[in-house]
Amino acid sequence: MKHIFVTGGVVSSLGKGLTSAAIGMILERRGLKVSMQKLDPYINVDPGTMSPYQHGEVYVLDDGAETDLDLGHYERYTQARLNRYSNYTTGKIYSEVIARERRGDYLGSTVQVIPHITDAIKDAIRNGVAPGTDVAITEIGGTVGDIESLPFIEAIRQFALDIPVGDVMFVHLTLLPYLRASGEMKTKPTQQSVGKLREIGIQPDVLICRTEQPMTDDMARKISLFCNVRREAVIEERDVEFSIYEVPTMLVKAGLDRIIARRLGLPVEVETDLTDWNRMIEDLRHTTDTCEIAVVGKYTALHDAYKSIYESLAHAGIANGCKVKLRKVRAEDYADGGPALIEGCDGLLIPGGFGERGVEGKIKAIQHARETGLPFFGICLGMQCATIEFARNVLHLEGANTQELDPHSPHPVIHLMPDQANVHEKGGTMRLGACDCDLVPDSLAHRLYGAASIRERHRHRFEYNNEYRARFEAAGFATSGVNPQRDLVEIVELKNHPFFIGVQFHPEFKSKPLHPHPVFDGFVAAALAHSRGAHRGGKPERSRA
Ligand code: GLN
Repeated sequence: MKHIFVTGGVVSSLGKGLTSAAIGMILERRGLKVSMQKLDPYINVDPGTMSPYQHGEVYVLDDGAETDLDLGHYERYTQARLNRYSNYTTGKIYSEVIARERRGDYLGSTVQVIPHITDAIKDAIRNGVAPGTDVAITEIGGTVGDIESLPFIEAIRQFALDIPVGDVMFVHLTLLPYLRASGEMKTKPTQQSVGKLREIGIQPDVLICRTEQPMTDDMARKISLFCNVRREAVIEERDVEFSIYEVPTMLVKAGLDRIIARRLGLPVEVETDLTDWNRMIEDLRHTTDTCEIAVVGKYTALHDAYKSIYESLAHAGIANGCKVKLRKVRAEDYADGGPALIEGCDGLLIPGGFGERGVEGKIKAIQHARETGLPFFGICLGMQCATIEFARNVLHLEGANTQELDPHSPHPVIHLMPDQANVHEKGGTMRLGACDCDLVPDSLAHRLYGAASIRERHRHRFEYNNEYRARFEAAGFATSGVNPQRDLVEIVELKNHPFFIGVQFHPEFKSKPLHPHPVFDGFVAAALAHSRGAHRGGKPERSRA
């Protein structure tokens, strides 16, 4: 088994996660089995308690682990099976070491960063490897040179010492800044960040240089010379013009697939087969159809907060042969501005969320979609808001709310799940991970999934209140997915509407570019039908679902 460690230098946000995922994909397309892992240097035990402002979206795995959003890239680009061992933070490593110390496992020794923390990191790396893996890819979060990254970099250096030389390689991602004033790109930051790595004892085998402008051969030679990396292993990864899906293709064109194969002693004469992937990009390039989706949420200013949702919409666009334009609307603005803010949109998506801010705006937007036949898709809090909207405006249950926002609501149509009542710790205590859901025959959900039962990932504490179920159903607000073990309502939909569905789970975590999620697929199909109807000046067509 081989290991690839991916580090980053100069600045953060270079797209290390995406590049690591692309490397995984390239290797799979050469017939290899990969596993993917991320080590994050911050002290939080997991990102589950971090604000989207700090950290972007929290990505949830089947086993309920709340992880870094880069794991989303890994799942979208590769077949790697991820679980709670696929993402470690400094906090998680330290809590394990401290728990061992309290148990007395260290038999009286002084517990130190080296070797105890570094040993725990090495164990974590081994834990992250699934059985049968050919190549294990481990991305180190943060930037080389940060104080908090040091134990991780030290641990991967030691890790390489424990295995044969030909079984490990280091890939370093770096930035070649372009100085507009002098019209040149600079290699010095790259030299310095490689210098930092070499100080610790790691010589990168490959440098992937993120650039805005083309990297000239002269420049690559200079980097090669100063950084002690072979010329052919100094690889340009230029900002993509069109779509992030071009990254794997770009890296293969630059020869990265063969460099890795040669370095790790893997079969070199194999073709990296990206045929279907490249066809997808070409199709996307030539699509002229568009539809526009309004995303009314709390964190619309941040692209990363709803990353998987935006990705899933793009995947559904590919499946429907259209480009999906996004109109990001702050839910609070909608509360004042109203329908004018989403005028011309072909669908409304309300994402998940926590807390009060923006909720009334979301409810108003849903009312508009329900009343005007605008395709609607609500996710988690979005589904809960749709339930509240219907309760207030159709069932006339005054003061209907979720107990999250109004614990004393006279009509708690969304209430705290009973098993959450005595939960006081915040980290990792929600209803998390994949749960079963049986679909009601002939419902929209059933037609979209084409299956009788499904499993989807959850992350919530509150839930549809079954005491109101009969009233909702009688008024046409149907239940179309139910968790069989606990009789929890997981999917709601409106009967007399072109497309109106709310799901308590997070389908965005299971969509891939070549395998779009069925509900996103159906939603975008409905939005496209809406846009065609609108262009003809007529009534929107019913969706193909
Ligand atoms: N805040 C809601 C709950 O805990 C919704 C959670 C979400 O949207 N992920 O139930």
